Amino acid sequence: MIKKLKQQVIQAVCLEDVVQRYAELHRGSKSGKTLRCNCLFHRDESKSFKIKVTDQTYECSVCKETGDVVHLVQQLMGCGEIDALFILAEWFHIQIDKPERLIYKGRHSKSSSKQKEGLLVKNQREKVFNMILESLSFCQCSNPFFVYAHKSLELGVGPEALPDTYACLSGCMLFPVRNESGMLQGFLKYTSGGKKEEECLCVPESLADTELLGLYQAAGAIKRCGFAYLTWGSKDLLTMHVAGFTNTVACCSPALTYQQIELLLKYTNQVVIIYSGEIFKQVKTTKAIGRLSFLSVSSYRFPLHKGLSFLYNQMGLERFEYFVRQSTRLNYLNTMKDNLLSRLKSVTEQLDKVKSLEEKVQLRSDLIYMRNKLDKLADILNRNWEYLYWYFR
Ligand SMILES: [Zn+2]
Repeated sequence: MIKKLKQQVIQAVCLEDVVQRYAELHRGSKSGKTLRCNCLFHRDESKSFKIKVTDQTYECSVCKETGDVVHLVQQLMGCGEIDALFILAEWFHIQIDKPERLIYKGRHSKSSSKQKEGLLVKNQREKVFNMILESLSFCQCSNPFFVYAHKSLELGVGPEALPDTYACLSGCMLFPVRNESGMLQGFLKYTSGGKKEEECLCVPESLADTELLGLYQAAGAIKRCGFAYLTWGSKDLLTMHVAGFTNTVACCSPALTYQQIELLLKYTNQVVIIYSGEIFKQVKTTKAIGRLSFLSVSSYRFPLHKGLSFLYNQMGLERFEYFVRQSTRLNYLNTMKDNLLSRLKSVTEQLDKVKSLEEKVQLRSDLIYMRNKLDKLADILNRNWEYLYWYFR
């Protein structure tokens, strides 16, 4: 069924037509067999995104994203294959026989072997994990960053002597990962490799997909503040917490999973994603925004190609805090402004169409309300952008 549907869609849709919805296409070769454009996944001005017209595949030479047209839509819209096929069919007016639509239904019932894992093994693992947690020692260091991280987020060094199965954790810097109700699920292990792709490894591996780092510690603050910051990787998470943004959670997996989104949704539907200019973080964020598109999301990219911890070290606590507060708030306000503007436009259009006096009066009062709000927003935004502009020039 899906196979047939996929065939039908792929035959009718050109990759370049889809890409064209997002970016301006340029000729990549004389023959026209390849096309180029600025990448859809990372911030790009050198047309790194290459489309092979004959193969109907794409590849970015910088962030290495590759795939076909269905995969592209999946990545950008944050949906599964079937949904991507339906989206394409809708965009390109393809007549398909609609079976009952399969929308994302939330919990993925993963029938992986991990679930069938024996109770005995699980119990044993729990025991070892709790033993590790209890003996996590504080790394000898006076850096206030680590002092805080140890005290509030339990970061510490694992014991040397551990059973063979968990030997990979011995003597390592570990970040205990708890689920939302506070139960210890495992650890994030820091590896010193200096690799681009973050510093950590989850034990057990599945943690990266099922848990949001720091959610347990952030839950109260998220409810209080009414929104959550989302960052990538534990370093950024720690930095945010140290700076007082305790409503921060982090994602460790390559992409934000639906399980993680569901967790987040229990606490808030307002998310501010913060990320630095590092390419892999840009790609992750692009994908996360696709997945979160049904929430109120604003994203803020730091004007630097280094992580938040770098920024923190450069600016010091006070300036870093001010910077995050101002810049994400402004970004959030900007998103609000855009939403208001588009609502204003649609109400104005409606006003032209409605005939009854009652409706007109209602719409006019809506308009006045929105205009007032917009004026206030514009005022705040104008005053504050100057500061940021000055700081980064
Ligand atoms: Zn790219």
